[in-house]
This record gives sequence, structure tokens and C-alpha cells, in this order.
Amino acid sequence: MFHKSVFKDETKLDINYVPPRLPHREKERRLLMEFFNFLLHFPERMTQRVIITGDVGTGKTALARRFGADITLEANKKSLKFRFIHINCREYRGKLFFVLQHALTVFRPTFPSRGYSTEEVLRTLMQILDEEDAYVILTLDEFDTLIEKEGSETVYSLTRLQEMRAGKPQRISLLCILRDLRAVEKLDASARSTLQRNVINLERYDKLQLKTILSERVAMAFEPNVVGEDVVDLVTELAVSESGNARFAIELLWRAGKYADAENMDEVEPECVREAVSSIIPTLRKSELSSLGRHEKLFLLGAVRIFKDCQKGYASLSDVEKAYTVVCEEYGEKPNSHTQLWNYVQLLSALGILKTEVASIGTRGRSTRISLPAVPATQLEKELTTALERDE
Ligand code: ADP
Ligand code: MG
Repeated sequence: MFHKSVFKDETKLDINYVPPRLPHREKERRLLMEFFNFLLHFPERMTQRVIITGDVGTGKTALARRFGADITLEANKKSLKFRFIHINCREYRGKLFFVLQHALTVFRPTFPSRGYSTEEVLRTLMQILDEEDAYVILTLDEFDTLIEKEGSETVYSLTRLQEMRAGKPQRISLLCILRDLRAVEKLDASARSTLQRNVINLERYDKLQLKTILSERVAMAFEPNVVGEDVVDLVTELAVSESGNARFAIELLWRAGKYADAENMDEVEPECVREAVSSIIPTLRKSELSSLGRHEKLFLLGAVRIFKDCQKGYASLSDVEKAYTVVCEEYGEKPNSHTQLWNYVQLLSALGILKTEVASIGTRGRSTRISLPAVPATQLEKELTTALERDE
């Protein structure tokens, strides 16, 4: 039977999709345009070198590609022969030869570079650019792999292409992307000084920033009202604990949607997120469960039942306390005191099974909200039930 997908357009969650807007990176996007603005006015007179740094998932590649599309559009308006070439150095094993060969095929798709040296490929590339009167921003993503493989001299020559062609128009600007500037600092002084002038560092996203990024993506990729706020919060928090990695967040969202579709659900529920995250990173070792005391297990089982049965991502401590009382009855145990329960919460969050957060609720002050971020409730329920039976 046909069931409608929760996705409106899942390609919007693809790793290669570059959104039209980059929330929290618009300043850097304008800065890049400033750095390369001369290209639109007097491209033959100068070239530029810019470095983008930042941790995994801080939007380095997305920023570069967004800028690439922007400047290409502007260049086209002016009928400039301009190409933005983005190359992931790691995909070319960090070898300059393969990188340049790829750049060459942008202009000459069938160029037979077998048997050529790196210098010859470079010379040919320059020749073609002269012939076509074309200008290039060569974007070398994961540039650290190239530094590692090729070392100082090659990097130096790459940054000094122009000096070897005195009197001829300038052709190739560089945009280098790497996680950590330390890789550049390892180069010798001359290579460093030609590279390091313009550095744009992307800070890790914080919780609020990730949330806006995710919310925009949800609106593009999913049908209306299938991804609730709780789900966005849950994914955001998981990504924050993965050091603010936006890529992790978006992949998680996509997988959660896939689980919802596989189960013919009308909405992406928190449980789908837990299924998704436990498929990406193993979140629970069985030994951790068996090390729990009986009442800790009963308490966790209570919590798990809440998250399994309702579509909310968060529960209050008093909700969990009620559920725990019910579970105790079922197992013929006398429930422990409220103060004791607080210790269970602390232990279970230290183990990374539950997550607690103090939320302020209007005039009534503060309350603790509890979530089960990473382990699917159905899986946990099964394992707890087995463990409790074994204990008897
Ligand atoms: P990096 O190259 O730094 O590892 P990416 O550029 O690949 O990170 O970003 C990871 C994912 O997050 C991509 O899907 C990208 O589109 C998305 N992303 C990152 N930053 C933003 C942002 N500011 N706005 C929208 N999407 C973003
Ligand atoms: Mg990248």
C-alpha cells in the first residue's frame, strides 16, 4: 500500500546541496566577495589567496561553494571568462598532479595527461587559460592532505605561479580550505608568508545557531508539520555534543526521515532520531545496563516507556517518577523516595543514556526536562525487561 513520504524534497539534505542562504555565515560570505571583488573589475592585474579554516561541519565547503556560485553569477553578468573550480584534494590523494589534471579537464575534457609531469600539466593549464583569456579561482578543499603529501616546495610554487610568468596577465587565484592552520604553520617561512595573509576562521556552531540552520533545512526538505520542534531540539542537542557539527545534524535528520518512511509514519518522531543516531554511532554497551542496580533499571524502564509511547522528545522528572511508580508496581517493588530518584537521573545522564536540562517555565520557575537522546526506546525496553527478569 502506498504511504506518503515525510519528505517533500530529500535532496535538500544531500551532502552536496548548497542552500541559497547560509545562516550565521553571511558575514563570511560577504567578506569572501570583498577579497575577490577585484576579479570582477580588473582580473588580469592581480590574484588573491585566501584560507578558510574551521572544524568538521562548520560550513567551510558550503561557504566556498555558495561564494563560488555567487561570484560566477556576477562574472557571467559581465561576460567575463571565469571559472570557479572546487577540488577536494583528499579525493585526489593529495597529489598536485591529479589536482591539476582535474582542473585541466574543466577546460579540455579529453586532455591526455598521461606521461606528463606535474610542471607540464601546470604549464599546459596556464597556456589554455591564456588562449581562452580565462580566469580561475582554484579552490583546494582539504588542503592539508596536499600539504602532507607534497610538502613546502610544491605549496610554495603553487602560491607563486604568477612570478614565473612576469608580464603576462594573472590567471589563478587560490582559495584553500583546511581544518587547522597548524598544517600551514608547518610549512617553511616563504611558503607560509605567501599563503597566510587572508584567513577566515569559522567558529563552531552553538546550539541556537544549529537550530536555525536545521529549522531552515527542515522547511525545505520535509512536508509541513511532519517534523516537530521536539525533534529539531533533539537533533540539535545531539549535534552540539558532536562539537556543533552541522553535517552530522543534517545527516541525522535525513536518516530519521528514512526511518519514519520505512515505518509508514506520518511524522518524524523522536524515536526515529534515536534509531538514526544509534545506527551512526554505537551508543550503548550492554555491560552498562547490567551494571545498573534494580531500581535504577526500573526507573530507566519507566522513562523509556514514556518515550516509547508518546511523541514528545522530553519529559519532566515528575512524569518519569509516575511512570517509575507504575513499573515498580508491575515488578512487585516498593518505589524509592524522590531524593533517591534524583541520584538515578544523575547516574543515567553520566552514562549518557538520559540527558537532563534545566528549563525555565514561565513564572513557575525552573524544572528539569529529561530526554532519551540516543538509544531507541524499543531497543532499550527490550534489554531492560530481559535484564530485570534475569535479576529475579
Ligand atoms: P565542512 O566543510 O566545514 O566540514 P560543510 O560545509 O560540509 O562543513 O557543512 C556540513 C553541512 O552543513 C552541509 O550540508 C552544509 O550545507 C550544512 N551547513 C553548514 N553550515 C551551514 C549554514 N550556515 N547554513 C546552512 N547550512 C549549513
Ligand atoms: Mg568540507
